[in-house]
Amino acid sequence: MNAGGSEGAGLATRAIHAGEGTDPHTRAHAVPIYQTATFAFDSAEAEENAAERVLAREPDAFLYTRAGNPTTDALQRKVADLEGADESLICSSGMAALATAVLSVLNAGDHCVIPEDIYMGTGILFDDALGSKGVRVTRVDTTDQAAVEAAIRPNTKAVFVESISNPHMLFSDVEALARLAHANQALLIVDNTFLSPVLFRPLEYGADLVVHSATKYLSGHGDTVAGTIAGRKELVDRAHHYQEVIGGAPSPFNSWLVLRGIHTLPMRMRAHSDNALRLARFLDDHDAVEWVRYVGLGSHPQHEAARRYLHQGFGGMLTMRLRGGEAEMSAFAGAVRLGAIAVSLGDLKTLVNPMAKHDCIIRVSVGCEDPEDLIGDFGSALSAAAATAGVV
Ligand code: PLP
Repeated sequence: MNAGGSEGAGLATRAIHAGEGTDPHTRAHAVPIYQTATFAFDSAEAEENAAERVLAREPDAFLYTRAGNPTTDALQRKVADLEGADESLICSSGMAALATAVLSVLNAGDHCVIPEDIYMGTGILFDDALGSKGVRVTRVDTTDQAAVEAAIRPNTKAVFVESISNPHMLFSDVEALARLAHANQALLIVDNTFLSPVLFRPLEYGADLVVHSATKYLSGHGDTVAGTIAGRKELVDRAHHYQEVIGGAPSPFNSWLVLRGIHTLPMRMRAHSDNALRLARFLDDHDAVEWVRYVGLGSHPQHEAARRYLHQGFGGMLTMRLRGGEAEMSAFAGAVRLGAIAVSLGDLKTLVNPMAKHDCIIRVSVGCEDPEDLIGDFGSALSAAAATAGVV
C-alpha cells in the first residue's frame, strides 16, 4: 500500500490520510480488509525470505496474520503518525495491549508504581496476574508527585498511569511523572484511552509507551474491541515480539473498523468535549447532583494542570454523584433515555454506568448527540430520580 502523503499536515488531515494509500494490487481507494490467516508463496525460498523479512520487521512483509497483516499494518502506520511515535502495534483489545506492553517491560523481581484509581481490569492485571508472577506493585495517588517519588525503589522499572483515571477522572501530570521515572531509570507507560491522541499525546511529554483501548474513542462507534501500543521502535518491536507469542493480534476486520473510525476522530473528540463541558456545567448547577467531576470544570482538583496540557478540549468523560444514594442512582439510570446503561465508553452514543460498588457514583461517557437533547434528557431523569427518592 502506498504511503498516505500527509506528512507535515494537520491532525484532521493525518487522521484521514496517514498510513493509507491506493492499494497497489487492486487500485482500491479504501484500505481493503485482508481477511486471511496466512500468505502463500511461489517457492520455499520465497517463503523463507518472507519469514526473515517479518522477523526483521521490514515494511510490507507478511507471513501469517498473528505476526502481521496489511490492513492492520495500515492502521499501525496511522496510529504511529497520530501519536508522534516511531511505531505502533495493534492488539486484539485494550487489555491485550496493556498486558503485552507491561509483559514486555516487567520481569519477576521488578517493581512498578500504578495509580490507586485505575480501570478495574488493569488493576487486576497488575495486582493478580503480574503480582503472582513476582512483579512488585505499589499503588499511589499519581496526581501527587511526592507520593510517586516516595514509592519509587531501586528496582522500579516502570511507572504506569492513566492520563485521566477510570472511574474518578483524576488528571495526572504526565510530563512531571516522565521526569520522575527517567530520573530513576524507569519507563513511563500511559493509558491515554480517555483523551485519544487528538486531545493529548503523552509521547510529546516524555512518556515511553502510550496505550489505548481502541474499543473506545479510536474506533468510536461501539462496534469493535481493539487496543494500541505506540512508542520508540525498540520498545514497540519488543512488544510486537511478545504479541506474537502471547497471540493477542487483532482480526483484520477489527483493524479496519478502527482505521475507519479514526477518520472522524478529530471531529468526534471536538463534539464529545463540547457536549461534555455543557452537560457538566448543567449538572454542576443541578440541585439533585451532589458533585460532578469533569477535568474541564474549574471545580476539578487538577483543572489548572489539565489546562496546561489540553488545548483542544477535555474529552467526553465525567463522573457524578447524586444526592441520596443507591435508590437515586438507580432511578436516574432507569429514567435516562439517550444514555444506555452500559459499561464501556467513547461511543458516539451516550453511555451511563452506575457504580453501586464505588459509592454510587455514575460515570457518563458523553456522546455526540445534540447537546440540547442530552441536557433535556438528563434534566428529566434527574427530576424523576429526585421525585422517586423524595429528595425534591
Ligand atoms: N483502559 C481503560 C482506561 C479502560 O477503561 C478499559 C476498558 O474499559 C481498558 C483499558 C481495557 O480495554 P478493552 O475493554 O478494550 O480491553
